[in-house]
Amino acid sequence: MSTPRPYYRAVAGELDAARTASLAGLPLLLKGPTGSGKSRLVEALSFELGRPLITVACNDETSATDLLGRWLVKGGDTVWQDGPATRAARLGALLYLDEIAEARDDILVVLHSLADHRRELWLDRRDERLQAAPGFQLIASYNPGYRRAARDLKPSTRQRFVALSLTYPGPDVEAEIVATETGCTPKLAKGLVGLAHKIRSVHELALNETVSTRLLVHAARMVAAGMDPRAACHVAVVEPLSDDAEIVQALRDLVSLAL
Ligand code: ADP
Repeated sequence: MSTPRPYYRAVAGELDAARTASLAGLPLLLKGPTGSGKSRLVEALSFELGRPLITVACNDETSATDLLGRWLVKGGDTVWQDGPATRAARLGALLYLDEIAEARDDILVVLHSLADHRRELWLDRRDERLQAAPGFQLIASYNPGYRRAARDLKPSTRQRFVALSLTYPGPDVEAEIVATETGCTPKLAKGLVGLAHKIRSVHELALNETVSTRLLVHAARMVAAGMDPRAACHVAVVEPLSDDAEIVQALRDLVSLAL
């Protein structure tokens, strides 16, 4: 059975730009808040181009060795196991490094040689120089608003990429995404998007991250599974956004006004 085409609703020509970067053989940096569609865009791109997708969710322990590979002891033997970057380079796949700024700085060595004209990897532990197969593309995502002071991408890294900013779409498009993604009524989609716009505009809430399209999709799914819309917003939108009792109450009030 063939896999269905991932649903991605382009907001401002970003899918076209991403496709062009792939065809031009350039690495791509997707900037945007959590839940703004970065991963979905990459899935759609992989499907369209017919190239496999290898995703790495980076965290503060992700190292160059994790990306490249390591020797493992199996039985009495030592066997080499390719890491995701090596596999992607051999296969000619899209390598998606999600939340790249979280990873350890030593991954830059890997990125820089893959991202520039060399398109190669140096596997020092194997003494192998690997040229990325045609079709290989490095794609990274980065959330500029998140822990800004602690983690920012260095100019020498970011200037190797073609970069696209993803933001939350306008109300009609966001409602279309929520309705298409969940099959909910246009009325519910509109109500959820209205709530999101209200929350995004109240800066006094001082949220670390504001409500994303992902949270609206979750709320609509809870309603589809039988929950009352306000209760669904409480568990799918309000509680994930804050632990502060006062802010939770303020968000609940906004839910009551919107739905
Ligand atoms: P990110 O990678 O930016 O954190 P995702 O790509 O995982 O976000 O998006 C979260 C969810 O939001 C998706 O699973 C999808 O339901 C929905 N979504 C957000 N933006 C879009 C879009 N432009 N087209 C289709 N779905 C979207």
